[in-house]
Amino acid sequence: MAYNPFLNFCQVLDRAADIVGMKASDYEILKHPERELKVALPIRMDDGRLEVFEGYRVQHSSQRGPCKGGVRYHPDVNIDEVKALAAWMTFKCAIVNIPYGGGKGGIKVDPAKLSTAELERLTRRYTAQILPVIGPQQDIPAPDVGTNAQTMDWMMDTYSMMKGHAVPGVVTGKHIEVGGSLGRTEATGRGIMIITRLAAESRQLSRPTVAIQGAGNVGSISAKLISEKLGYTVVALSDVSGGVYCESGLNIPEILAFVSKKQFLKDYSAPGVTHVSNEQLLTLNADILIPAALENQITADIAAKTGAKMIIEAANGPTSADADEILARRGITVYPDILSNAGGVVVSYFEWAQNLQSLYWEEDDVNRMLEKVMVRSYNDVKKTSEEHGVSLRLGAYITALKRLTGAAKLRGIFP
Ligand code: NAD
Repeated sequence: MAYNPFLNFCQVLDRAADIVGMKASDYEILKHPERELKVALPIRMDDGRLEVFEGYRVQHSSQRGPCKGGVRYHPDVNIDEVKALAAWMTFKCAIVNIPYGGGKGGIKVDPAKLSTAELERLTRRYTAQILPVIGPQQDIPAPDVGTNAQTMDWMMDTYSMMKGHAVPGVVTGKHIEVGGSLGRTEATGRGIMIITRLAAESRQLSRPTVAIQGAGNVGSISAKLISEKLGYTVVALSDVSGGVYCESGLNIPEILAFVSKKQFLKDYSAPGVTHVSNEQLLTLNADILIPAALENQITADIAAKTGAKMIIEAANGPTSADADEILARRGITVYPDILSNAGGVVVSYFEWAQNLQSLYWEEDDVNRMLEKVMVRSYNDVKKTSEEHGVSLRLGAYITALKRLTGAAKLRGIFP
């Protein structure tokens, strides 16, 4: 059967509920997104042709606050993926204890094949189509795979034009000039760095080697901060074209400068650097493996072969359920996505709060608050998993499940 990330989510949810003896009726609602919207997006291409793209916005839960989650532009976007990504957002926001539910959106498109003008028209049409369900108190999109600050600026502008006044709080991850927060671009990677440091310390690894899959926003900033701030040795990094490896450590600033010029790693060369496939990268003998690309990368086959001692999930849903079991049997600790990559949504929350107050913070304050939230959330998840003698993933799900069902009970059922 084809991999279905939403079913994967429901399975882990059932296991977490079972461990704490929760009745099915207490959490059944979490298996049903509150709202699923599918939109058709007719776009005039630069050559005059009309193309119709398919877009989605899913609001999984608003029990703990407005829905929150990114927008993905990728050819594989489909409703089950968006539902899973929305549900993971609900759990992520509950774990880091910020007042949001979860949502996610996406367009089935390869953004690399569109011109900037085509991307702008697509983004504006998508925003217009989902406009009735988004808003600073309703649902707040952000960047994800294939989207960035420019995408958010267009979304914010479109929404504001339709409302007749500037509404910066409708999206997060914007450029600073239009209401973005200092520290937001680096936030997910910074959160990954914090969890990587806590994970390495828990195993007394003083200068571990690290392999990172994905050299986009999350992968590249994680590589930069882990090498620069922690002094760990990043031995491998990849993008969609493949990866590069150097046993004594890659020159990360040089590689990131190369990648930032829209060049692919398959074309990078330097003394001592060899090329590896994405599969080879995932099975290397690095102490720490950080998948920072897409879902379902660490399959059962990879899990059986990987030489990593621990995995920090920077991507959403990178590990399949059967791989998780193999990793647990092999004593490889997995730091789950809904904890590890939460830095982005935490600073999105700070950005939104700054937009609502029209009061902007210093970068040091943003980073200090992020560190505090990540360390507290790590400790909450660790404590819960130790209390129940389960994996950190189940510990994370249980932490979130308790907060979500607690909120649902207090609110009751309408009508
Ligand atoms: P991005 O588009 O900036 O980068 C994605 C990277 O993955 C690119 O380097 C691309 O070349 C690589 N890639 C794509 N397909 C691949 C494949 N088949 N094999 C190997 N590499 C491949 O995206 P991003 O924002 O860095 O997001 C990466 C992951 O992190 C996603 O799972 C996303 O949901 C998650 N995430 C992102 C944020 C955020 O703030 N951007 C926050 C939380 C989680």
